[in-house]
Amino acid sequence: NKQIVLKSYINGSPVETDLELKHGNRIKLEAPKGSNGVLVKNLYLSCDPYMRGRMQDFHASYIRPFRPASVIEGFGVSKVVDSDNPNFKIGEFVTGITNWEEYSLVLKTDQLRKIQQDDGIPLSYHVGLLGMPGFTAYAGFYEVCAPKKGDYVYISAASGAVGQLVGQLAKLHGCYVVGSAGTSHKVQLLKNKLGFDEAFNYKEELDLEAALARYFPQGIDIYFDNVGGSMLDAALANMRVHGRVAVCGMVSQNNRTDKQSFRNMFGVISKRITIKGFLQSDFIEKYPRFLEDVTGYYKQGKIVYVENMNDGLESAPAALVGLFSGKNVGKQVIRVASE
Ligand code: NDP
Repeated sequence: NKQIVLKSYINGSPVETDLELKHGNRIKLEAPKGSNGVLVKNLYLSCDPYMRGRMQDFHASYIRPFRPASVIEGFGVSKVVDSDNPNFKIGEFVTGITNWEEYSLVLKTDQLRKIQQDDGIPLSYHVGLLGMPGFTAYAGFYEVCAPKKGDYVYISAASGAVGQLVGQLAKLHGCYVVGSAGTSHKVQLLKNKLGFDEAFNYKEELDLEAALARYFPQGIDIYFDNVGGSMLDAALANMRVHGRVAVCGMVSQNNRTDKQSFRNMFGVISKRITIKGFLQSDFIEKYPRFLEDVTGYYKQGKIVYVENMNDGLESAPAALVGLFSGKNVGKQVIRVASE
């Protein structure tokens, strides 16, 4: 049973060699009698920026760290190979937290959600569009941003797993939407495939405040912040009165060991800006509604979803680490095995 193991805790930016492919023990492909568990074959594994936080020994975080020299875990899509649990049958597909390995024995089956297989929807979307990142976009946009038709919306890391859906939901809501991303290819994707009104490569801008002023001459009503740091500061300088900032993530700060200071905080007072951090799990009761709405939008052709699929467990370390240099174009997924 091949596994991905964290070698030891890290500081600063993660590198591929922080993770290691190990040939774990041979395992019996069965769920032990009386365990109430399921034995699953892992098909797709999700690479998510929060996993960086679990690679360091920092217990104050909202999720506990991985254990060094042990297999790591994350969201996945798996197929039930054997079951000692009456709620799961052999051959069914499930999504939830699973180990980064070929086969896993899942004992906490309450964390698994059965996938109603639907020919129109790729299974891997259950860790992306219809999984945690999609839900983050949905909950963050509707519950935190308080959007109104005609609002001017700005999204950073806009072509990623979360950002691409925020932008499309904002367009469906009748907003004017601009996204930023780190390559010209991503910028083209935002404008030509994902329906953003405008997009720009933030790496080509010497002055982020001036860039945002150019794209939003009238100011920003909603900033959906995926990156934090100097981009957040630049957005604060461009917010309109009563603007809302949904602080979703701070991927630009994840690997920093120093602290960044803000120049434009005073605007929060003078312009009565609301800045609200959130975790998607705060809104978990909305999940069924999200699945229904977003599945519907997708089937009606109102939204699309871009994935970056890497093949094989061997590709997992590079795929995960690549999130922090922007290698991924769209939602980063690892295909461990075919369906
Ligand atoms: P993405 O798919 O967007 O991948 C990460 C992207 O971040 C990269 O592709 C890169 O895009 C950008 N990036 C990487 N390093 C930097 C940097 N130093 N400065 C600026 N941009 C950088 O990830 P997700 O969509 O999965 O996640 C987006 C954000 O949402 C993250 O901050 C994540 O932690 C957060 N999140 C929060 C949740 C919550 O409940 N609050 C839940 C899920 C995610 P580019 O090439 O454009 O720079």
